[in-house]
Amino acid sequence: MKILVVNCGSSSLKYQLIDMEGERVLAKGLCERIGIDGRLKHSGKAEYTADAEMKNHTDAIRLVLDALLNKDHGVLNSIGEVNAVGHRVVHGGEYFSQSVIVTGEVKKAIEECCALAPLHNPPNLIGINACEELMPGVPQAVVFDTAFHQTMPPKAYLYAIPYELYEKRKIRKYGFHGTSHKYVAQRAAAMLGKPLESLKIITCHLGNGASVCAVEYGKSIDTSMGLTPLEGLAMGTRSGSLDPAIIPFLVEKERISVKDVENILNKKSGVLGLSGVSSDFRDIEDAKKQGNSRAVIALDLFHYRVAKTVGEYAAAMNGADAVVFTAGLGENSMSSRAEVCSYLGYLGLRADSQKNNTRGKEADFATDDSKVRALVIPTNEELMIARDTAGLLAGR
Ligand code: ADP
Repeated sequence: MKILVVNCGSSSLKYQLIDMEGERVLAKGLCERIGIDGRLKHSGKAEYTADAEMKNHTDAIRLVLDALLNKDHGVLNSIGEVNAVGHRVVHGGEYFSQSVIVTGEVKKAIEECCALAPLHNPPNLIGINACEELMPGVPQAVVFDTAFHQTMPPKAYLYAIPYELYEKRKIRKYGFHGTSHKYVAQRAAAMLGKPLESLKIITCHLGNGASVCAVEYGKSIDTSMGLTPLEGLAMGTRSGSLDPAIIPFLVEKERISVKDVENILNKKSGVLGLSGVSSDFRDIEDAKKQGNSRAVIALDLFHYRVAKTVGEYAAAMNGADAVVFTAGLGENSMSSRAEVCSYLGYLGLRADSQKNNTRGKEADFATDDSKVRALVIPTNEELMIARDTAGLLAGR
């Protein structure tokens, strides 16, 4: 069974074609600058890069299908070989606690969630419509970033604001990166050789966007992102949590609009805003090595917040069996992992510096005598989407 996984952003589209027999990636690639000019980077039987006009996502999908069918760099003889398409959708609101096959009703619900994720859900929907148009009859499934967190109890997902605002506007914590948290929690259980349902796991997805999740006996019971992906940890360019009174204060003192403040908090804050160097942790680590004091502060604050959130979730679950590090920074930066773990001695977790000297592959880097394991697990959201899609097809 071959599943095409599609992840549509506002001007980009990432894809992978996965053969579920052996879970092999047959081809993958990226369309960039959709609606501007257009560039395709494809890797299949061979590498292929081309500047090609993409007025919209339908154009982009058409080029992806062409690339998949191409004699030189493609991997398919006919589109009929694709058994289903799995789409990443960022926001499923309270409608979806699991992945589903696309129907008219499902699309309507995704559209209703656009208000909660105005940057993400509209391109996700466009991608679904484009695939329906170009691949008629091929089943489409949707996998939501929010779905895994729908198991949170009210004390975790409610904000302490008038309850009527939750009822009227659905203002609550939804959480994101759910596909990644779920995947690494499952892998953690496999690495520990124990059923997921018996474990308390704290998963740290540390990339450009970053969040922590408390996975108790296989279910998300709390996570650091909220109504939107702005809450929680400091991130590449996002502020994470702050005193909400800062927003009117800035509007008044800086004489800027709420939209401007939103832009500052989303695009100009986080480790970029603090360091003044970059949103990329590699650049900030380099600046720190050269003695840049603001880079030191940015990294210190970032790690401190991750560690504090791990502490919150250890409290929420009355302990933890493992702390997992994943995504760009979590998988690759041994110094970040070491910094975070330096706060976790009280839990009975100590990093072994030799074992922590690893990158991009699964590893347990806690000392042998640590009570809580420290794991590096590369995330694989595409595989998770493909698995869910294949499961839905089988269950039809
Ligand atoms: P996203 O999917 O949210 O864009 P990723 O999970 O790809 O993010 O993570 C991207 C981030 O990972 C980059 O900003 C970079 O700072 C960080 N990163 C990647 N490799 C390394 C590395 N070797 N050392 C430190 N940071 C890294």
